[in-house]
Amino acid sequence: MSEEKNERQYTNTVGSIVSWAIFRAAAVIVAAYVVSEYVSWLDYSTWWLLTLIMFYAVVLHPMQIQYRIYREETAKVMDGTLCSTCRHFEPTGVMCSRLDEHVTEDSIPCEGELWEPK
Ligand code: SF4
Repeated sequence: MSEEKNERQYTNTVGSIVSWAIFRAAAVIVAAYVVSEYVSWLDYSTWWLLTLIMFYAVVLHPMQIQYRIYREETAKVMDGTLCSTCRHFEPTGVMCSRLDEHVTEDSIPCEGELWEPK
């Protein structure tokens, strides 16, 4: 049971949110390029409008949702755990930089032995 809790990881981290946004942005750029090359009846202003709408729908909006989920999931561990007060806590990845392990509100990987004040 406790091992199951220790293995729990968050749906997103800041790094994964940014990485996926970069992949999706690249896909939007490729799609916009293909459309501009092969859809000859589309005028330039409409192409720009569609590209901006696609960028918002495929890149920005999912980023906002992922970040909201990240904030909700990490709210407890960010505020009120021993790790959140430790200098080895890396909030963007919700990790212990000393042990290179994810931290949750249920588990302190070092069990407090390596804690150092910020
Ligand atoms: S050293 Fe210990 S208390 Fe500090 S972040 Fe890592 S697991 Fe948490």
